[in-house]
Amino acid sequence: MTFHVKVDEELCIGSGNCVHLAKGVFELNEDGLAVVVDETAASEEDLRLAERTCPTGAILVDGDAADQA
Ligand code: SF4
Repeated sequence: MTFHVKVDEELCIGSGNCVHLAKGVFELNEDGLAVVVDETAASEEDLRLAERTCPTGAILVDGDAADQA
């Protein structure tokens, strides 16, 4: 199962929670906003935790539709 991870940069406030919770998946860019650098770097559990605990709901984690078919 692969996951598609997105950050809505309109919503991200750069708290950095996701960078710590799903190590290797997110980085803060030069504007201090989270970007996805490697969506395979963390477990599903950690991805879901980052998604759930983002203070602004900016993270969207989707399972790969092809894998669910
Ligand atoms: S946890 Fe949410 S608001 Fe904080 S840096 Fe990550 S995406 Fe942005």
